[in-house]
Amino acid sequence: MKTVQLDGESVTPSKIVCVGRNYADHAKELGNQIPSEPVLFLKPNSAISGELRSNPAENLQFEGEISFVVREGALAGVGFGLDLTKRDLQRLLKEKGLPWERAKAFDGSAIFSEFVRLEGGVSDLRMTLDVNGETVQRGGCEDMIFQPQALLDEIAATFTLADGDIVMTGTPAGVDSFAAGDRLMGRVFDGTKLLSEGCWTAI
Ligand code: ZN
Repeated sequence: MKTVQLDGESVTPSKIVCVGRNYADHAKELGNQIPSEPVLFLKPNSAISGELRSNPAENLQFEGEISFVVREGALAGVGFGLDLTKRDLQRLLKEKGLPWERAKAFDGSAIFSEFVRLEGGVSDLRMTLDVNGETVQRGGCEDMIFQPQALLDEIAATFTLADGDIVMTGTPAGVDSFAAGDRLMGRVFDGTKLLSEGCWTAI
């Protein structure tokens, strides 16, 4: 099983619960409606990777997301996550009304920085994603349609969250394709304080 790090300790998520369309500006950029309830989908443990793999044959896109590790049913740690998406395939599946897993839950589609224990509230959490030194995504909990605790409650009503499971809270505007050699740097802050960062060069 794949692991992530929480304050230097290995944690084994049984699954990752992802939220779609949680920022109005991103829903708009993909031409989606603002949802009245959270759009949820899953990635299995096998989706987790430490490597950012490009694939020139596919329109592979990054989505930078504030991500949480759950323990005892609560948001216990926070980190930066990449929800990688085969965008053309996702469009095709959406058009046909088919599940998204082939476009969202494939091996290597979930990449995380180290998680750090969550000490204060979540209201000032925010993220940035730089690609080759330029900030292309930025967003924070204050911009989310559904706040982290509301997401957790909604998720827990349907999916039992085991210790170590991860919640990815959705991506702000600015998603784009990437190619081998691109350098992605994701950061999560509490206000102005840097909590965690991850850096990956696409291979
Ligand atoms: Zn996403």
